[in-house]
Amino acid sequence: MPQAAEPTASLVAALIEAVGAEHVLTDSSLHDQYVVDWARRFEGPALAVVRPASTSEVADVLRACSAANVPVIPQGGNTGLVGGSVPSPDGDRPPVVLSTRRLTSLGDVDPLSGQVTVGAGVTLGDVHRHVARAGWSYGVDLAARDSATIGGTVATNAGGIHVIAYGMTRAQVVGIEAVLADGTVLSHLGGLLKDNTGYDLPSLLCGSEGTLGVITAIRLRLHRPAGRTTVALVGCSGYAEALDLMSRSVAPGVRLLAAEVIDETGMDLAVAVTGMAWPLESRHPILLLLEVVDGGDASGLVGLDEADVAVGVEPGERERLWQFRERQSEAFSTLGVIHKLDVSLPLPVLASCAEELRQVVAAFPEVTTYGVFGHLADGNIHVEIHGPAPDDDAVDVAVLECIARYGGSISAEHGVGRAKAGKLLLCRTPAEIAAMRAIKRAWDPQALMNPGVIFSS
Ligand SMILES: Cc1cc2nc3c(=O)[nH]c(=O)nc-3n(C[C@H](O)[C@H](O)[C@H](O)COP(=O)(O)OP(=O)(O)OC[C@H]3O[C@@H](n4cnc5c(N)ncnc54)[C@H](O)[C@@H]3O)c2cc1C
Repeated sequence: MPQAAEPTASLVAALIEAVGAEHVLTDSSLHDQYVVDWARRFEGPALAVVRPASTSEVADVLRACSAANVPVIPQGGNTGLVGGSVPSPDGDRPPVVLSTRRLTSLGDVDPLSGQVTVGAGVTLGDVHRHVARAGWSYGVDLAARDSATIGGTVATNAGGIHVIAYGMTRAQVVGIEAVLADGTVLSHLGGLLKDNTGYDLPSLLCGSEGTLGVITAIRLRLHRPAGRTTVALVGCSGYAEALDLMSRSVAPGVRLLAAEVIDETGMDLAVAVTGMAWPLESRHPILLLLEVVDGGDASGLVGLDEADVAVGVEPGERERLWQFRERQSEAFSTLGVIHKLDVSLPLPVLASCAEELRQVVAAFPEVTTYGVFGHLADGNIHVEIHGPAPDDDAVDVAVLECIARYGGSISAEHGVGRAKAGKLLLCRTPAEIAAMRAIKRAWDPQALMNPGVIFSS
């Protein structure tokens, strides 16, 4: 816990000056929820938790930390799954955790541009509800929507269930306001779609995982709501069949909104956690969940006559089928601490790599449960492993090396965080990593912003 009493006392005084005493938490019993991650795999000590309510308060906090040479960990909803939102257990400089959850401004939707500006601490669910009231929808959605903040989703360039239709978070961001480690405010929220005036700083901040600055507000691009949709859960013999069905069961002119996958292990756990019955006539190694915008009387799905399939057209039916997929993380977590590996693969090799992964993991006798679910259309699978001790990452490394051999990415959508820091060389070149480090040094010369995230040192 706090190490140097004198600097800490003066820092705490400066933080109280910046945000008020009730928003500086120094009693460890008060800030437990901020120092342990969602999956309970990562935790570490913090000097304090600070909760600023405006961009200028964020700037004051960062100036105080910079003057005291104390690292800062930006934190939104703390639903990140790679340990980037909580302190490291072995950091030699205990950090301040800066919670963005009081940055909750919600601007009016601009009906001409289809854009809205929101504070970084607004939850994804609140953004959806806010823009829906104005007749719009937001393109990124994920199961942690009522805890994850919009700032966190931008900082991780989150993907989610509708990437195939709308793209990742970066594709929704038209402007960002952020504060750098020295308190400098960068604000670019004008919302111009065409603006080729130099480097695209919002794009750089998107996916920076708190290592370049604190994002305080975001200008988002919105979409018109998709309209009526149909959901189908289809039993498949394996990934090859799931990919084949995904590519040929969407009728011409019909838009695919989501194509997700769940394996038998994940389905059994979801059945247990939801209390719902197995939804198909038979058991299958892989279940494919498709959602399409039907836009007419037909369901929009073709060629499923021979398949074991459950179809949901009414909202309640669609919701029931989605529950099996949406509650996968929660279902695996009922087993205890899970090694979660979020990876992506080129679609043509996904089936063969998935087969090899099973063998790779089987070589670790301490593994008790192995399951896979994910966003099939994006080539993004989440590998869930239970058994090895939380700090034993031998099986994690073996999985990531296998993914790299197939030309995949070791982080599809969750980011690098602390979990994969130091493993970047598996899929980025030394020249790329050197260029990233140069940006980090230029923006954060004291190395105060989320040290140990993305880069291990
Ligand atoms: C049940 C469940 C389902 C999920 N499903 C998906 C999914 O489908 N797709 C997906 O991509 N992710 C998913 N996630 C992971 C997680 O929800 C996302 O990574 C999300 O973007 C994190 O948002 P957060 O506000 O919780 O950020 P946090 O966990 O608080 O932080 C995540 C990272 O962003 C940084 N950060 C947070 N806010 C800011 C800010 N304002 N400025 C600068 N840096 C900041 C932190 O320092 C940290 O490095 C899921 C998680 C859970 C628990």
